Amino acid sequence: MLKDQHGRIHNYLRVSLTERCNLRCTYCMPADGIELTPKEHICTYEEMLDIIDTFIALGVKKIRITGGEPLVRKDADIIFNELGKRPVELALTTNGMLLDRYFDVFESCGLKNVNVSLDTLSPEKYNFITRRDGFSRVMENIRELITHGFNTKLNMVVMKGVNDEEILGFAELASKMPIVVRFIEFMPFDGNRWNNEQLFSAMEIREKLGEKYQIFRSEDAKHDTTKHYSIEGFAGQLGIISSMSEEFCGSCNRIRLLANGSIKNCLFSNDETNLLEPYRKGEDLEPIIRQAIYNKKAKHAGMFQLASQSNRSMTTIGG
Ligand code: SAM
Ligand code: SF4
Repeated sequence: MLKDQHGRIHNYLRVSLTERCNLRCTYCMPADGIELTPKEHICTYEEMLDIIDTFIALGVKKIRITGGEPLVRKDADIIFNELGKRPVELALTTNGMLLDRYFDVFESCGLKNVNVSLDTLSPEKYNFITRRDGFSRVMENIRELITHGFNTKLNMVVMKGVNDEEILGFAELASKMPIVVRFIEFMPFDGNRWNNEQLFSAMEIREKLGEKYQIFRSEDAKHDTTKHYSIEGFAGQLGIISSMSEEFCGSCNRIRLLANGSIKNCLFSNDETNLLEPYRKGEDLEPIIRQAIYNKKAKHAGMFQLASQSNRSMTTIGG
C-alpha cells in the first residue's frame, strides 16, 4: 500500500500519455501551445507499462488515462490493450475529438468509463474556447458513447462571463441522457491567466441550478472529488467539482504519472519526482515512489496562493 504521512492510502493512478493535444483550450494552455519535452525524455510505451506495473504491485486499483489529449498518442491502442490485461479498473478523460477511432480498442480492453470535456453547447463558442473547430464531431462522438453503453460523464469548466450562462443548458442534457454532467471550478495553471473574477464557484453553480431545478444531494463514492446531485425525472445526474472554493484534500487517493515519467503527489504541488531516469538506470523504483507519496502535504494552498505560485500547464498534468 502507498500511504502518505497523513495516513491516506493512494490506489488511484492518473496517467498522462502525452503532452500533445489537438485542441488549445484557453483555460488549459497558451494559444501557441507549450514547449514540449524532447522525445527522448518521454516514456516509451514499454517503459510506461513497466512503471505502471510497479504502481499496481504497490496497490493501485484504478487507472485513468489522460493527457494532453491521450488519443493523439500513436501507440495509445497498445497501451489500452496492455492495461486491459492488468487487474485494474480503467477510465479515460478525453476531449472527444478522436473517440470514434477507438471504440473497438475500448471494447477489447474492457474500458467502460469515459469522461469527455465539453465547455459549451454553441459551435461558435467551442471554436473560441478550444481555438479549434470540432464541436459537431465531439457531439457525435458523445452520442456514440451513449449508444455503445459507456459510463459517460461530461466535464464542463465553468468560467464567469465565458460560459456560466450555459449551466442550465448543460443540466438539461442530463435530463434526457443517462450521463453525469460535471461542473468544474476554473483552476489556475501556468499559461491560463487565471484570476479570481473568472471563478464561478460551486456555491454560484448551485444557485444557478436552483433557479430552475430542485437539486438533491446524492451519495458520492468514497474518494470521489465530485459532489453529486440528482433532479427528479432526470435520466442522468449532475456533479460539481469544487477544487478551489471547497477543497477535498482530506480524502485524496490520487497519484499522477506524467508522460515524462515524473510523478506529482498533488495536482497543485510543484515538487515532482522523476521515475524514468532511475528506471533507465535499473534502480528500484519502490522506495522512490513510497517517499514521494509519503511527503504529500495535508492539503493544497488556498486559492489565492495557488494563483500566484507556478505550476505546469494543465495539459502536461492531465487533470
Ligand atoms: N485532453 C483531455 C481533456 O480535455 O479531457 C484530457 C486532459 S485535460 C488537461 C483534463 C481535464 O482537465 C479536462 O476535463 C479539462 O477540462 C480540465 N482542465 C484543464 N484545465 C483546467 C483548469 N484550468 N481548471 C479546471 N479544469 C481544467
Ligand atoms: Fe487539450 Fe484537454 Fe487541455 Fe483542452 S483541456 S487543451 S483538450 S489537454
